[in-house]
Amino acid sequence: MRLTVLGGSAASPNTGAGCSGYLIEAGETRVWLDPGPGTLQELRRHTDFRTLDAVIVSHMHLDHCLDLLALRHALAYNPISALRAVPVWLPPGGADFLARAIAPFDECDDPGRFERTVILQEYDPANALTIGALTVAFARTVHYLPTWAIRFLEPGGHSLGYTADTGPAADLSDFFAGVDLLLAEATLPESTTVELHHRGSLTATEAAALATASNTGKLVLTHFWEKHDPESQLSAARSVFTGSIQLAVKNITVF
Ligand SMILES: [Zn+2]
Repeated sequence: MRLTVLGGSAASPNTGAGCSGYLIEAGETRVWLDPGPGTLQELRRHTDFRTLDAVIVSHMHLDHCLDLLALRHALAYNPISALRAVPVWLPPGGADFLARAIAPFDECDDPGRFERTVILQEYDPANALTIGALTVAFARTVHYLPTWAIRFLEPGGHSLGYTADTGPAADLSDFFAGVDLLLAEATLPESTTVELHHRGSLTATEAAALATASNTGKLVLTHFWEKHDPESQLSAARSVFTGSIQLAVKNITVF
């Protein structure tokens, strides 16, 4: 399984880098995880957006889903048409949320033109999905609207965990137990004064503690603000997790 970072910024783009967006590949299977703003343009460097096996959205905050609109637009207008609609998996309630967000844009074009480009479905977090070679499981996080951490497993046993956005109270260590790679959010500075149970985001050391508790092999820190000095966040995380750690820099691929 391979993870390619398409953007790793927190709630708004850092300089030259989009928000949450990742390409997960396992054999021939390709999933665009969280189509955050500014990540479709990076996805195109690595694969053909017309032939994705799926797009999966962890939650409906703008920084994790806005490029869904760009994807529908690209599929509708690109001179080279897609052979089939692209499957998009939304969290529970996501279809209605998206319908309200896209309605004004859809009114500007031929009826149904954008709608035909994707197959919208909502996942049931209680049941794992099978997408090509991947088994995809979900666990609720602690965030400001319903959000789902995601675990990808391929037949050879390799696995990848993604925290999406979560506060430390979620305690996802059992869900991520033994994953080869953990992609964890590190939004907050170590100096945060917000009480632990009231938070919907992690510090880098909390992400590292989750990696340690999950006995994961590698940690990639993501969803960071450039103003919080990500390199110092990385150093802080290294004091807590002894495995391989790196920042989710745009266009890196991690195996
Ligand atoms: Zn976010």
